Amino acid sequence: MAEATVLVVEDEEAFVEALEIGLAREGFRVQVARDGVLALELFDALRPDIVILDVMLPKITGIDVCRELRKKSAVPIIMVTAKSSEIDTVVGLEVGADDYVTKPYRVRELVARMRAVMRRTEHREDDLTQDALVEGDVTLDPEKHEVRIRGEVAALPLKEFELLHVLLANAGRVMTRDQLIDRVWGSDYVGDTKTLDVHIKRLRAKVEPDPSTPERIITIRGLGYKFDTALTPT
Ligand code: CA
Repeated sequence: MAEATVLVVEDEEAFVEALEIGLAREGFRVQVARDGVLALELFDALRPDIVILDVMLPKITGIDVCRELRKKSAVPIIMVTAKSSEIDTVVGLEVGADDYVTKPYRVRELVARMRAVMRRTEHREDDLTQDALVEGDVTLDPEKHEVRIRGEVAALPLKEFELLHVLLANAGRVMTRDQLIDRVWGSDYVGDTKTLDVHIKRLRAKVEPDPSTPERIITIRGLGYKFDTALTPT
């Protein structure tokens, strides 16, 4: 395995120093951001292989940094909390971290977690074929016929897959009901007009964090549907 880059987001010097030395010794390239704003900037510049993210940070909390990163990347993230009660908060908020450690921790323990998370997630992003469509935390790879939602492979029936494909390929644009029916079912569309809505509903149940208030597959009244790109920073 080539040398992996780790972005350490931490504002306490003692931890920064320990991680810089300890992780370098384990063969990682270490980059440090000391606040949340810098973390987001450095992430874009470095595209690290893994992020170690302290919860309590100046400017933007680690929780918000994690949410921002998840909108655009499936990078492995390990959150660092000062108290175990913070873990419950982080887990409860479902911010999208892959693992958690509580201070104080041993670098050796952290490295073991890092390697485990990186093994678990190594096929998440880098094996996508070129034609893969990515919008926020939804990825569709037509060649492999694979959909991933928040990093997890989702099994979609054929018509749901095709519907999501059309929506993602036209993300940000309104697709009329007729356009969607034509492209997904063509002349095979024999159901009543509810067939499309039923499939949209099933897709939302898988794609939306909260299917009762869709924010990805949006209804455009009187017209059709749109896959919203607002969650994807441009
Ligand atoms: Ca801190």
